[in-house]
Amino acid sequence: MSLETKEPAVPAAPSDFIRDIVAAHVAENIYSRIHTRFPPEPNGYLHIGHAKSICLNFGIAREFGGVCNLRMDDTNPAKEDVEYVDSIQADVNWLIAGWADDKLGLKPKGMTPETVAEEGRRDFYLPAVTQSEIGNRKSEIFEPFYASDYFDQIYDFAEQLVEKGKAFVCDLTPEETDEYRRNGKASPFRDRGVEENLNLFQRMKAGEFTDGSRVLRAKIEVDAANIWMRDPLLYRIKKTEHHHTGAKWCIYPMYDFAHCLSDYIEGITHSICTLEFEVHRPLYDWILESLGLPRPLPHQYEFARLSLGYTVMSKRKLMQLVDEKLVTGWDDPRMPTISGIRRRGVTPEALRNFAYNIGITKYNGLTDVSVLEFAIREDLNKRSLRRLAVLRPIKVVITNYAAGQVEELEAVNNPEDETAGKRKIPFSRELYIEREDFAEVPPPKFFRLKPGGEVRLKYAYIIKCEEVVKDAAGNLVELRCTADLDSKSGGATSNRKVKGTIHWVSAAHAVEAEVRLYDRLFTEAEPDKDGRDFKSVLNPHSLEVVTAKLEPSLKDARPEVRYQFERLAYFALDYDAQPGKLVFNRTITLKDAWAKAAQKS
Ligand code: ATP
Ligand code: MG
Repeated sequence: MSLETKEPAVPAAPSDFIRDIVAAHVAENIYSRIHTRFPPEPNGYLHIGHAKSICLNFGIAREFGGVCNLRMDDTNPAKEDVEYVDSIQADVNWLIAGWADDKLGLKPKGMTPETVAEEGRRDFYLPAVTQSEIGNRKSEIFEPFYASDYFDQIYDFAEQLVEKGKAFVCDLTPEETDEYRRNGKASPFRDRGVEENLNLFQRMKAGEFTDGSRVLRAKIEVDAANIWMRDPLLYRIKKTEHHHTGAKWCIYPMYDFAHCLSDYIEGITHSICTLEFEVHRPLYDWILESLGLPRPLPHQYEFARLSLGYTVMSKRKLMQLVDEKLVTGWDDPRMPTISGIRRRGVTPEALRNFAYNIGITKYNGLTDVSVLEFAIREDLNKRSLRRLAVLRPIKVVITNYAAGQVEELEAVNNPEDETAGKRKIPFSRELYIEREDFAEVPPPKFFRLKPGGEVRLKYAYIIKCEEVVKDAAGNLVELRCTADLDSKSGGATSNRKVKGTIHWVSAAHAVEAEVRLYDRLFTEAEPDKDGRDFKSVLNPHSLEVVTAKLEPSLKDARPEVRYQFERLAYFALDYDAQPGKLVFNRTITLKDAWAKAAQKS
């Protein structure tokens, strides 16, 4: 008797210590709904590290029937910009499309939790609304949350702390404050009375003082072992306009003060961030506890950030590459940004497969870039249409093939996918083959074309190289070959074996394309290792542009389709392409050339 096994309805989700915690909370029924958030600061484009965080937060919402809010963590007006707000939304939408878009927490446009509560509305979060109710008007009706929408509430919470004697206005200079905190020394302003503190804080808000002249600080512990608990700053004066609140505010809450309160206001249950915030956690808890907020309170959990080989990940460094024009922009296909990765031709499924399954741990480490590349190849191998293309052409003339004759040969679109079907490719007397598929003086074990040697043209004939034609300067002009005209599929000698098979295109039928061959942006696995200037190890060969000859069907290439140029690499159409001008990006080579090179040396 055989045991009956049932296929699981959903693919197994990863398991890790954060998911274990969430599962325990679900079992104990502590929260009515699991609610996570993804809180980028709109001061740059999202990168692949953010993709890990997105997949974790949305993954948990998916696995536990929860919601994940998208929140702009916009408490620092100086560095933030709407360009980034827009790009962040586009990138998140792209990455979670068809996977977790029904878990995306958004709010009705222009509203804050307060106005929503006033109206007694229940459809505060997008997931509470059915798709049929809103159709495709989602982006007209909903928008992300903004921490800056809570500035009024956060200010009120700050006043409450002052009233409770748990916060004070401090007049030390920023340098003095640092020094006092480092040495565990009490600020001389620490024992100001509640009335005076309230008065000064209100006047800070009213704009009576200059930037940096006063701050609001929590009154916790002067010489706490954890330096973050040494009377940390809660509010600072910054007379700068804000991209979302305009000129309304001249004081802004610090990250630590705003973040836990934003989580509380939105009803977040699990506030997941990277390890460097572990030391801030006591402050996160202290603020919520000190305000005596009703339970259950949100809690913070930390995991190791993604660091990827041959990549820099800090927004500051990526911005430097953009500003100094070392790349063409945030979405340059060599950038580790989500928009760069997308433009390169990687699909959201491949990026998610990488970022979702990468593993959540408590230990920082470097992830080998080959793990990402494997996920990309695996995905593209399944979906891409095979096409013939020659990147660096040399001409081949088949001397025993009649001029003007054209045959349509059958080629398979995707051996991994029967439904992809077949297509015809034209064959004629003059062809292009890849320059490197011919060697006049072949190295040992060279099984491609050589003088007097034979090779099979994929989907076509076996040819023999009879003559190498050169110009006066000794440059190769063309190869003159003969074909075994019985050797194509169905012919008398179709089973004849030769060692090599190469790709080709018919010269008269080929279409031209600009092809951008991208490679890793850095030559070292850890570009910023030991404080090295990461720009000193930029790969000078990270982009090569060639004019390639493609089989004619590629004239109709579409941006949403992925292609494998056979024997070469995977490619996708770039948005620079226009009617009559094809531009392709190399997403990734078929094999890992870097691993091969490392093996050799
Ligand atoms: P950067 O260091 O690049 O400036 P950041 O941490 O300042 O990044 P945020 O916009 O604040 O960027 O990040 C939003 C969320 O993404 C945070 O919860 C943060 O912990 C997470 N995150 C940022 N970088 C990584 C990374 N490399 N791996 C995993 N998560 C990350
Ligand atoms: Mg940050």
